[in-house]
Amino acid sequence: MSRLPALFIGHGSPMNTLEVNGFTTSWRSLGQKLPRPRALLVVSAHWFFGATAVTAMPQPRTIHDFYGFPPELFAFDYPAPGDPELAAEVVDTLAPVWCGLDGDQWGLDHGTWSVLAHVYPQADIPVVQLSINALKPLDYHVDLGRRLAPLRERGVMILGSGNVVHNLRRVQWDNPDGAFDWAERFDEAVAEQLASDPGDILKVTAHPDYELAVPTPDHFIPLLYIAGLAAESGEPVEPLIRGYAMGSLSMSCFDVGSGLACREEQGAATIPEHVPPEQTNI
Ligand code: ZN
Repeated sequence: MSRLPALFIGHGSPMNTLEVNGFTTSWRSLGQKLPRPRALLVVSAHWFFGATAVTAMPQPRTIHDFYGFPPELFAFDYPAPGDPELAAEVVDTLAPVWCGLDGDQWGLDHGTWSVLAHVYPQADIPVVQLSINALKPLDYHVDLGRRLAPLRERGVMILGSGNVVHNLRRVQWDNPDGAFDWAERFDEAVAEQLASDPGDILKVTAHPDYELAVPTPDHFIPLLYIAGLAAESGEPVEPLIRGYAMGSLSMSCFDVGSGLACREEQGAATIPEHVPPEQTNI
């Protein structure tokens, strides 16, 4: 099997699971053009805790890791199978970096299923999640991305799911598809860094807008895995979808190796104006 692409998807609100908007339409279109992998390995912003671990259960549960959203979202199920063999393969591939096998703690969180609901709506491709080790520095995650590169040659599609710009304190609920100047500047700087030298992606942490764009690292780190993968294979990272939501979220998506860059339409508003501000954990 030839080398599979690796993608970073800006996921935004969990409501994208159920909505038809510019971004989710682009995700659907993407899924129709991408090859069908043997399995998906997803690094989601929402499995951010104190260890490096991989889901190893045969049937991961759909985790509804948020509150304040409508019942339809809590009823959503993404019944994709797990892949215990791939989980073991991930542990071997990352060695000597330690990675634990999670048999019963996690499952699939909304960083994974809000996107896969559109990219692979049949839920018939096995999915494994890799946690983000919150105790490690940023360069650890770039390095892990590099280490995962051989899996792309073995039928595994690697997805990072987060947001390049993600500042919930600055969200403008009445500005569904707008962006602050600083959000656009940082998103653009990231796109340029990915295009020129993805292996040096951490250079963007010195950008003057980094603190505002990335007040917490959880949604930014999944991008580092894709940058590491690209650096390892020497391929460019190309923008697939560019767009913003609510001023302080970037919905940009990037990929390595799909050949689909610039063919996706520009995203549009993703968050409806009626979303009340008590909804969190997007
Ligand atoms: Zn999120």
